[in-house]
Amino acid sequence: MKQYETVIGLEVHVELATKTKIFCGCSTAFGAAPNTHVCPVCTGMPGSLPVLNRQVVEFALKAGLALNCEINQFCKFDRKNYFYPDNPQNYQISQLYLPICHDGFVEIETGSGTKKVRIHEIHMEEDAGKLVHDDWTDSSLVDYNRSGVPLIEIVSEPDMRSADEVIAYLTCLQSTMQYLGVSDCRLQEGSMRADVNLSVREVGSSAFGTRTEMKNLNSFKAIARAIDGERERQIELIEEGKSVIQETRRWDDNKESSHAMRSKEDAKDYRYFPDPDLPPITISDEWIAKIKSEQPELKREKAARYQSEYGLSAYDADLLTGDKALAERFEASIAAGAAPKKAANWLTGETLRLLKEKNMEPGEIRFAPEHLAALILLFEKGVINNQTAKEVFAVMFDGDVDPETYVSEHGLKMESDSGLLTETVKKIIDANPKAAGELREGKDKVIGFLVGQVMREMKGKADPALVGDLIRKQIFG
Ligand code: ADP
Ligand code: MG
Ligand code: ZN
Repeated sequence: MKQYETVIGLEVHVELATKTKIFCGCSTAFGAAPNTHVCPVCTGMPGSLPVLNRQVVEFALKAGLALNCEINQFCKFDRKNYFYPDNPQNYQISQLYLPICHDGFVEIETGSGTKKVRIHEIHMEEDAGKLVHDDWTDSSLVDYNRSGVPLIEIVSEPDMRSADEVIAYLTCLQSTMQYLGVSDCRLQEGSMRADVNLSVREVGSSAFGTRTEMKNLNSFKAIARAIDGERERQIELIEEGKSVIQETRRWDDNKESSHAMRSKEDAKDYRYFPDPDLPPITISDEWIAKIKSEQPELKREKAARYQSEYGLSAYDADLLTGDKALAERFEASIAAGAAPKKAANWLTGETLRLLKEKNMEPGEIRFAPEHLAALILLFEKGVINNQTAKEVFAVMFDGDVDPETYVSEHGLKMESDSGLLTETVKKIIDANPKAAGELREGKDKVIGFLVGQVMREMKGKADPALVGDLIRKQIFG
């Protein structure tokens, strides 16, 4: 069989985290009762006029600069005309001729090193309303709360070659938008939506094959399955001597197959023209300079700094910076006095484990950074041992207790008074003459058993290393 290469380009819609919509003052809050965040503008009433929300332009610029784009300092809005019940104006206000940003790139990590994915453009547009299909009454209802919510559409060049690269690219966009505060980019809630354009070609061929576009992908897993499914489908067509038709397909993740939605439309089908209700936008050098000077540190730079400044491994630095809230936690814990490596261990270890177990996000972490710093100190000073630290951490994770208070109130301090410890060690050695004898004869392994016995007797409140020392001292003098 011939060898095929998959070629993928993405169109990603990102809902911007502005308080109000792009052309009116209605709220963008998610989850409100249907049609409560609406007005004449976002329901397309005749005579109503749009007024551009400045914050939308600011967010689009932030995104574009972070994605290494050129800026069109003179840009415009265009009308994309089509009829659909979720679109009350019968046109969508978007940008065709002069999108705000163009020609950028991001760098992603792949199995074979760093790879550049070029960004063709980023444009601003308004979201449509939402159709709710009601099987019971066999009718469709429309909710205009989402109508007019600001979006940017990030269009990549067809530079990706596998599902892994696509997911690395999307993860990079997601984290960039989150660090910028431009969007929360939740696939499940629809604040980030990816359309996958895919074609296949024979390995070695320089011409692209005919592509299809897949919509309705709302998780990374669905995206990966859709890519594999569509690749197979296209290869099969080609092998049978048929041709791939350029069309929009809807992926059904339950059936793990896609079906054609509509044949692919061209820009000319939409009768685009400049929107006469909105004046062109001019973006000053000063505005761009100001935004550049305010850009936050992004994931890659942060991860590099965590390695050079704090000596973290690349793996830990990647985990910590993978989520903005987690990185903020880490930095706040250091500011509160925690040793960086220890804080990193708690956050990438126990914290991520408990978050996963409780199905929570890093943004929902409740314990104060000061308390993590205090817990680390209690352990470092030998006040509590590792096991107790984990127990206290679990309590802290659920209810943010002050570990110092908690440890003293629950009598969890280790016994450092070697009076009681020495006594216990003697008692255990006397009670286990066989093990003690073996240790004396050089069978070092049995020390673990004896330490365990002492720890049990001490109800865990002892430093196992110290206990080991005391046992040896007793036996070897
Ligand atoms: P349109 O505006 O008609 O949707 P574009 O040329 O702007 O078409 O491309 C849309 C998306 O499709 C882009 O992300 C682009 O990278 C991708 N794309 C274009 N040609 C191909 C192809 N042959 N195979 C895979 N993806 C493609
Ligand atoms: Mg398109
Ligand atoms: Zn409105």
